[in-house]
Formats: sequence, structure tokens, C-alpha cells
Amino acid sequence: MLDMVGIPDARSRVDNYPHEFSGGMRQRVMIAMALSCEPELLIADEPTTALDVTIQAQILELIKKLKQETGTSVILITHDLGVVAGMTDHIIVMYAGKVFEQAPTKELFQCPGNPYTKGLLRSVPDPTSEQGALYQIPGLPPDVAHLPPGCPFAPRCERAEEICTREFPPFVQLTNEHFSLCHFAEEVYAKSCKERDERASVASKGTVMEQSENVLDI
Ligand code: SF4
Repeated sequence: MLDMVGIPDARSRVDNYPHEFSGGMRQRVMIAMALSCEPELLIADEPTTALDVTIQAQILELIKKLKQETGTSVILITHDLGVVAGMTDHIIVMYAGKVFEQAPTKELFQCPGNPYTKGLLRSVPDPTSEQGALYQIPGLPPDVAHLPPGCPFAPRCERAEEICTREFPPFVQLTNEHFSLCHFAEEVYAKSCKERDERASVASKGTVMEQSENVLDI
């Protein structure tokens, strides 16, 4: 198993103590231990926390490879949206212990139907734009033992209305596989899809302009 997860010279290292391995190697050993039981489902809870980006990429690549080789399904629990985008087929966004949104990965990134998901996506720094101060969702997460009435996200939500502080929101079905916990899910979803279409139209105009500039260059 240690060979399988890429520990160099695995046979001679099998009796080593944890402190004799690097952080990335300890992570690999843990994955080997989990896979040695041939599980049908592997739950990887923040598997790359505290690792530098190079080791993080190696561990994620390893999980992907083992998933393909062994057929094990993986539930990845993480706060890193970049990891989620590259590793998953389907996403569940949770807040205060509740499922706020669930959808296939591409759909959720392109057309989020929940203000909390939109806030999370807006908080990801975009290196291609000069956006000034980084956006962050205002306020702090609630105490899950003393949740306010209504929607738990209401005190931090930019779309909240009076009903949000009073009534727990419905889990609205937006498409076959897309659901959102929000009083205004359909409106938020429609707005996201419109923004997606506008981005696509700007991008395609940019490509046409680039092509005509190339023609003029010739
Ligand atoms: S139900 Fe209201 S507070 Fe909750 S996410 Fe939707 S708009 Fe925001």
C-alpha cells in the first residue's frame, strides 16, 4: 500500500515513526491506511490542510489516481473552492450545518442559485482583474447551538428580506439536479444565469476582435 501511494523505498520505511516522515508523506500513509480496507467510499476531510501547494497538488493527484484505479467513491470535505472545482463531479454547499445548495460542479460554479454560494465565489481572488480590496462575506458564522429563527444566513445575506428572519427557507428545485435553500432561489439563479450569458457574450466578442486583429496583421 505504501508503494501504491508513492512512498519512496516503502519496504525499508515501513517501521519508521511518524516524525521520520514529512507532512506530505504522513498524508500519503494515512490515505494508504484508509484504502487498505478497500472501502467503497473514502471520506477525505480537508486532506490538504497545512500542506504547501506543491504537496497539495501531489496529494490531490494521488486521490484522483487511486479513485480511478480502485473505483472507490470519494467525498471531499474542504473550504478550498479551487480544490472542489478540479476534483469533484457534484457539490454540496453547507452553512451552519444545513445544505444550502447542491448541484453538478460546473452548473454550481456557472449559475449559483444561493446568495451564500455567490458570496463564497465572489470571495475567491481573481488574479486577472484589478478588483481592489478583496470581497468578504460580512459578519461571522452563527453559533450552531443557538441558531436565529428563519434562515441561518440572514444576518449576513445581502439579499435578505423580512421573511428570511421569520421563516426557514424552502429547499427549491431549480433543475433536475440543482437545489437551493432560499426564499429567493429562483430569482438568484435566473440572475446568475444571465450574468453567465453576459460573460460568455463578452468573451466571444473578445475572440472575434482578436481574430480580426490577426487578419489585419497579416
Ligand atoms: S433565505 Fe433569505 S437570508 Fe437566506 S440565503 Fe435566501 S435571501 Fe439570504
